Amino acid sequence: MIIVMKHGAGQREIEAVEKVLRDHQLGVHISNGSAATIIGVIGDKSALAGVNLEMMDGVDKCVPIMHSYKLASREICPEGRTVSVGDAVIGGKRLAMMAGPCAVESEEQIMEAAAGVKKAGAQFLRGGAYKPRTSPYAFQGMEDEGFKMLRQAADATGLKVVSEVIAEDQMDTAAKYCDMFQIGARNMQNFRLLKAVGRSGVPVLLKRGIASTIEEWLDAAEYIMSEGNYNVVLCERGIRTFETATRNTLDISAVPVIKERSCLPIIVDPSHAAGKSAYIQSLSLAAAACGADGLIIEVHPCPKCAMSDAKQQLTPAQYAELFAEVRRVAQAVGREV
Ligand code: PEP
Ligand code: MN
Repeated sequence: MIIVMKHGAGQREIEAVEKVLRDHQLGVHISNGSAATIIGVIGDKSALAGVNLEMMDGVDKCVPIMHSYKLASREICPEGRTVSVGDAVIGGKRLAMMAGPCAVESEEQIMEAAAGVKKAGAQFLRGGAYKPRTSPYAFQGMEDEGFKMLRQAADATGLKVVSEVIAEDQMDTAAKYCDMFQIGARNMQNFRLLKAVGRSGVPVLLKRGIASTIEEWLDAAEYIMSEGNYNVVLCERGIRTFETATRNTLDISAVPVIKERSCLPIIVDPSHAAGKSAYIQSLSLAAAACGADGLIIEVHPCPKCAMSDAKQQLTPAQYAELFAEVRRVAQAVGREV
């Protein structure tokens, strides 16, 4: 449920409502919008039986939230959230541009990738150190060594690190090297992992599951947020459909749907959606045009030598060209890169 305060309700009135909620063992989430303050009630609202909140001073109305996710809903924060990662803000006017190889493969490779994506204008360096692969015989990543290399390359170039975590017991080590944790598509419903990244407090990039509905995806975000970590950014990376021309089908509709239903920023990963480098630029432009808050794109100094996802990675030069085109579309829709 949300409690909408009257326009001009004062701090005393807001605090009085908050006290009633806390006295009933409920969690409180306050969103100070330009039109009104909205108080989100977190927990079992049957605890409020017999309490008439609408009679309290300053309260306009109480509105139930009809979805299973609450903190991730649009109702609780109608203005939308931004997520800060150091001095980078995701969800504001500027698109978050994340790029780098599928996997960290060597010091030289990640340094070259970092230098290339930085030069093009990216703010975040991506790269998998832990690779949950479909086949157990495929390259599984350089693990903690990979994290160290990522951190070094990012520090040398002034980028932020976003990298995947795959296990609950990794949080402390991973937090030493990453500015943002990625939860991969295969782990979107690994609920213990979601809770662990929630407790870590580190900003999270939550990829959509390969065959997950938007509602399941928002429920996954809710797992993270219910542990007190509101720094969640959603990432549409394509879903499995009957179509085989692309690796997955980019569900571009997810962008406006998420904007309507959720307060969380959403970025798009055209690389894993398309699976082919030739389609990445078109899909990136579509994402920028329809309101995505950023892009995460695979870039490798030598795509054809890549140990994973070779077909979909761009060269740094191709990325620079894409970046310039995205800038033009972003400007056309009132955003910037
Ligand atoms: C990745 O980002 O390299 C990756 C494995 O993505 P996804 O989890 O979306 O498949
Ligand atoms: Mn990949």
